[in-house]
Amino acid sequence: MANETSGEPKIAITRLAKSFGGNAVLKDVSLTVPAGGVVALIGPSGSGKSTLLRCINLLVVPDGGEVRVGGDAFRFGPGTRLPGIKALARFRAGTGMVFQHFNLFPHLTALQNIMEGPLTVKRMPKAQAEARARALLAKVGLADKAEQYPSRLSGGQKQRVAIARALAMEPEVMLFDEATSALDPELVGEVLGVMRALAADGMTMVIVTHEIAFAREVADRVVFLRDGVVVEEGPARTLIDAPRHPDTRAFLAHFH
Ligand code: ADP
Ligand code: MG
Repeated sequence: MANETSGEPKIAITRLAKSFGGNAVLKDVSLTVPAGGVVALIGPSGSGKSTLLRCINLLVVPDGGEVRVGGDAFRFGPGTRLPGIKALARFRAGTGMVFQHFNLFPHLTALQNIMEGPLTVKRMPKAQAEARARALLAKVGLADKAEQYPSRLSGGQKQRVAIARALAMEPEVMLFDEATSALDPELVGEVLGVMRALAADGMTMVIVTHEIAFAREVADRVVFLRDGVVVEEGPARTLIDAPRHPDTRAFLAHFH
């Protein structure tokens, strides 16, 4: 896409604001991610992490600020027009989102779950969609689960199908919202393994996570959010090993 070879960031969030009713959830948040960069977003419950992630793919429409992913930019604020349905759908297709609770279609097999987007949104020929879906299942280590329904899969397997389903839309960026928080501890590793491989492949990613060791290892940068404000951000190891802000220190102390 447009900025692949330029020095511009792949994701640029500028002065984002979002309130629900009178509750200001994001206050002047800015964030950039270079192409191939991995940013981990950490912070206490209710700090606005999910809202920020949802603003990046416009599942939540910001009140103010700018959202740019690749070559698509949207400005928000008094007097600006909201993007139309078509522009929104095209934009969202380029930002893969993985949620805490898989959200697979229960009446479709693993393979069909992955084919659904390419078939209906991209109008891809069925044979091609199936070949790509099988390749993606192999990539997440589930080649032998193609014909299984979600109810027959473990949480870790379901989440890996959900990641493959997002990848099937050939997103420019991947957004993960606590993708391992609902998993039994012994299943966390297989999902983190897939995320680690994606990062190593050069995917641009924003990861909301409580897996601090994983963030330290895989993310280039960590952003600490509290009460809708970026309190501190920096290189992953520096921020996690030697946080400067007392609130970051207090938050990270919970994980020792
Ligand atoms: P986090 O993911 O860091 O736990 P969230 O972004 O989910 O934080 O929520 C931040 C705040 O925004 C919370 O106070 C939450 O109740 C509120 N909030 C989130 N989504 C909505 C919504 N759709 N309507 C009203 N309030 C919301
Ligand atoms: Mg959340």
